[in-house]
Amino acid sequence: MRIIMLGAPGVGKGSQASRIAESFAIPHISTGDLFREQISANTAIGQKVSAFMSQGMLVPDEITIDILAKRLSGRDCQNGFVLDGFPRTLQQAASLDRMLEEMNISIDVVLNISLDDATIVRRITGRRTCPSCGAIYHIDDCPPKENDVCDRCNVALMSRADDSVEIIQKRLQVYYKLSRPLIEYYSGKGRFVHIESAGPIEDTTERVFEALETSLPQSV
Ligand code: AMP
Repeated sequence: MRIIMLGAPGVGKGSQASRIAESFAIPHISTGDLFREQISANTAIGQKVSAFMSQGMLVPDEITIDILAKRLSGRDCQNGFVLDGFPRTLQQAASLDRMLEEMNISIDVVLNISLDDATIVRRITGRRTCPSCGAIYHIDDCPPKENDVCDRCNVALMSRADDSVEIIQKRLQVYYKLSRPLIEYYSGKGRFVHIESAGPIEDTTERVFEALETSLPQSV
């Protein structure tokens, strides 16, 4: 099964993608996570992308498409994957189309998750992530059992540097300008499902799984 998750930063794509990945035993591929790994390992790519990310700008298409292509060629992607945060531009979408064609595979469903900007800002500023396993929490909506410590790893949770109010505004502007046109691009192509992400995360998960059940072909 192959799924693309679309949506502005902070709508909950990552949380939903990780639940889908776990449930269907497929890899959760987040280009943001791939870049953060490169930054942590201080690689040449990490050094190139960190300034773009910290300023809330998109990493150039060339670098992004390249890292995604390498990840998609992994053996673990053979039975499917869920893409979270890619594509983010029309050029990335066109490149993905070409990659999939070469691999002789296609996307089963595109999920577009939406949420109003004020709630996005509240969700992002309260977001905390585990630096060890990547689990995502929210200080009010989905707090860890113990203060600021990951339930699974017992490691101190962190806020992402690009989750400040100022950078979120920039990321939202970038989303409206460069990524939102993807809704039109994909809504005219095969299975496209729109999901509202207001309310508790669990309710959104329910809507996501209901949508997957009704939209996925019988064979997946
Ligand atoms: P995310 O973790 O998806 O919120 O992404 C964090 C940051 O990584 C974004 O603000 C961009 O700077 C960069 N990034 C992630 N995915 C992409 C992409 N598909 N294209 C360009 N930049 C990306």
